[in-house]
Amino acid sequence: MLKAIFNLIYPKICYACGEAISGKINNVCVSCRANLAFLDIKDFTNNPIQQLFWGRVTFEKATAFVKFEKNGTLQKLLHSLKYRGVKDVGVTLGELAALEIEGSGFFNGIDVLIPVPIHAKKQKKRGYNKSHYIAEGVGNITTLPINLTSIKKELNTASQTRKKRFERFENVSNTFTLLNTGDLTGKHILLIDDVVTTGSTLEACANILKEIEGVKLSLLTISATY
Ligand SMILES: [Zn+2]
Repeated sequence: MLKAIFNLIYPKICYACGEAISGKINNVCVSCRANLAFLDIKDFTNNPIQQLFWGRVTFEKATAFVKFEKNGTLQKLLHSLKYRGVKDVGVTLGELAALEIEGSGFFNGIDVLIPVPIHAKKQKKRGYNKSHYIAEGVGNITTLPINLTSIKKELNTASQTRKKRFERFENVSNTFTLLNTGDLTGKHILLIDDVVTTGSTLEACANILKEIEGVKLSLLTISATY
C-alpha cells in the first residue's frame, strides 16, 4: 500500500524515453525494450562475434545483446548515464541483456562472471568500472557469482611507446595480470564487457585467463559495432 502511494507520487521513469513506467519492469519501458536493436544471435558458437576472435582466442560461447545504432534506444540509455548514474544504467543494461538471452540456455554451464577490468588508476579517477555494473545486472537475473579479485589490468605504458606503431601501443596497453586464481581452476568463466569493437582488449584478457588450469571461457557484451 505504502509502496503504491510512493509509486504514484514518484513514478518510475523509463531511462530511455523518460515516460512513467508502471509495474516492475527493469527501468526501461516495454516499447523502448521492443525498440532495442537486438542482435538476436541464435548460434553462440558461430556468429560475427566469434568470427572476430577466430585464430586469436577460443570462446565456448559468445554473444552480444544489441547493435549499436546512432540515435537508437541503446544510445538514449547511455545518454541517461548523466542523470541516472553509471551504476543504475549499467545494472539495467546487464539485467535487460540477461533477461533477453537466458531463455536460449546461454548461461547453462557458466560458473562465474568476470567483468573486464580497467586499470586501478583509471578506476580511482572515474570511481567505477562500467563492466562491473553490467556484470551485477547479469548476476541479478542469473544468480551467478562475480569474481573481481583474480585478474587486474596493468598500468598503461603508452607514454613509452607513443613513438611506435599504433599496433604496438594497443598491445602494450592491454596487459593483464593474474592474481589469486585458485578457486577458478576448472571453471567456466563468462567474460563481460560493454562493447566489442576490435576485440584486442578482450583477446588479451581472455588469453591471460586461459593460463588457469582447466578453465573454459565464454563472452557476453552489451553491444557490438560490426
Ligand atoms: Zn521508454
